[in-house]
Amino acid sequence: MLITHDTRCALDTVVDLVNTAPEDDATPDGLPDTVTLEDFVRNHEISDVGILSEFDLSAVRKIRGRFAAVFAEADPRAAARQINELVAAAGTTPRLTDHDGYDWHVHYFAPGASVADHLAADCGMALAFFVVAGEQERLRRCEAPDCRRAFVDLSRNRSRRYCDSRTCGNRLHVAAYRARRKEAAG
Ligand SMILES: [Zn+2]
Ligand SMILES: [Zn+2]
Repeated sequence: MLITHDTRCALDTVVDLVNTAPEDDATPDGLPDTVTLEDFVRNHEISDVGILSEFDLSAVRKIRGRFAAVFAEADPRAAARQINELVAAAGTTPRLTDHDGYDWHVHYFAPGASVADHLAADCGMALAFFVVAGEQERLRRCEAPDCRRAFVDLSRNRSRRYCDSRTCGNRLHVAAYRARRKEAAG
């Protein structure tokens, strides 16, 4: 499956967005205010979104919940329905561009789109291609028991089970290794 530069950026953005959601009532929201949202927009180079308001913040949190549902979905048909709703609500204007020295690719967000619509259109389409390619199972949640963060498995044989943001895989490997050593020593 061909993953263009912009798709890759959109995937990184949507994973980071989903992972700002609090995991439970005890953890704080990763997007608590418009200042944090501005940082998010700057870090992910989301262009042309203007001055951000409380309205933008609540709209982004709302689509974050919908993207989270896509990552939680085991069934491609259910994921497709979620993605269709996200993209349809955003309105799209596909257009070809080769900005900043990148090869030709398509932008989906409409000119003047709000930040929430921009994210829903471009990240929604990035996820749509995974369904089209029969690769929806690559949109995953970390299997570490205390984690559940979203990630996209881009490994060749779709074998990744853990996110890397907290080095969950390493942590579990170390725990298994220690358990084996203990057993061997015991
Ligand atoms: Zn682009
Ligand atoms: Zn994890």
